[in-house]
Amino acid sequence: LVDEDGHVSSTIFAEMSALAMQTGAVNLGQGFPDEDGPEAVLAEAVAAIERGENQYPPGPGTLDLRTAISEHQRRFYGLQPDPQGEVLVTAGATEALAATLLALVEHGDEVVTFEPFYDAYGGLIALAGGRHRTVKLRAPDFQPDPDELRAVVTDRTRIILVNTPHNPTGTVLDRATLDLIAELAERHDAIIVTDEVYEHLTFDVRHVPVATLPGAAGRTLTISSGGKTFSTTGWKIGWLSGPRELVTAVSTVKQYLSYVNGAPFQPAMATGLRLPDAAFTAIADGLRGKRDLLSAGLSAAGFDTFRPDGTYFIVADATPLGFDDAAAFCRALPELAGVVAVPLSAFCLDRHDADYASLVRFAFCKRVEVLERAVDGLARLR
Ligand code: PMP
Ligand code: GLN
Repeated sequence: LVDEDGHVSSTIFAEMSALAMQTGAVNLGQGFPDEDGPEAVLAEAVAAIERGENQYPPGPGTLDLRTAISEHQRRFYGLQPDPQGEVLVTAGATEALAATLLALVEHGDEVVTFEPFYDAYGGLIALAGGRHRTVKLRAPDFQPDPDELRAVVTDRTRIILVNTPHNPTGTVLDRATLDLIAELAERHDAIIVTDEVYEHLTFDVRHVPVATLPGAAGRTLTISSGGKTFSTTGWKIGWLSGPRELVTAVSTVKQYLSYVNGAPFQPAMATGLRLPDAAFTAIADGLRGKRDLLSAGLSAAGFDTFRPDGTYFIVADATPLGFDDAAAFCRALPELAGVVAVPLSAFCLDRHDADYASLVRFAFCKRVEVLERAVDGLARLR
């Protein structure tokens, strides 16, 4: 995080968004939508501000939002966390992850994640004093090798940190992998923390929450966020749910991080979580065509592309275009094609950069005309 001269490194997303601003290139780097989500959700935030809900909300989040989160978990997955004590509202999924790791990891404890991993995991595990162990996901399907997973999870493992659907690969972990995670967590008495922020963004496969696996609920903290589901990434309303004693430990840390956040956005999220089922499927339906458009454009430009089952990211290999250093390729891409993307090395341990050296992530949560402009630019690479 901090180099020998005391310089704090900025995240890849900030660097690449700045590059997009400077060059006017289409920003398919940082993942955020360029259109607003459901009107009812936006309207409720405005109404809440006008009602005067502008002061500190309750520490664990408003009871109404915690109730809506619990109802959502029940409606979609048959889970029933108690809004009183088993649900916590946080400043985005990021704070849920931070408070969880700070609460549960003791110095030197091991935290297992898949690799590549969402970049915040590396920083947060380091801040918590944990040791980061990884299991590699490899193209084309980015599912882990079960023997590698078995080898990495040991009695030293405090947390298995799962992310499905997975950023950056777009993989939805298969049932056999989820079962193995639950089995290994039980055998080694590890806690499962599962980041399911893309839970509603899946295409032809169903998202299975880890907490629904037999025996898993008692040791699983489930994290999500309204940012992806309702296209409100700037609101930073996230949450977690799980066993009372774990939620209590996380709440204790959370009160010294943000304390609380987003008073008028909390009722808006509750409105979102109570929308009819069709509103949730509409999000994935809108993204499916965009995935296909960008995926076809990348293939036509000469990339090897790996079609994702979930999230709004596509990974592509630039090797067939003659590039084996994706970081250099991404710096040149605004000039070459008028597009910004992110190298997968940003989602890896530094010592593993070489394993992902030619892979690039593109976001497709953009309007069709924006994606078409990107596809036209990418065609110049041929
Ligand atoms: N986890 C993953 C896998 C993500 O992609 C993101 C969004 N960038 C987050 C967590 C953070 O979510 P939030 O914006 O709600 O903090
Ligand atoms: N989750 C988004 C991404 O992966 C953005 C995260 C961020 O900007 N920190 O692109």
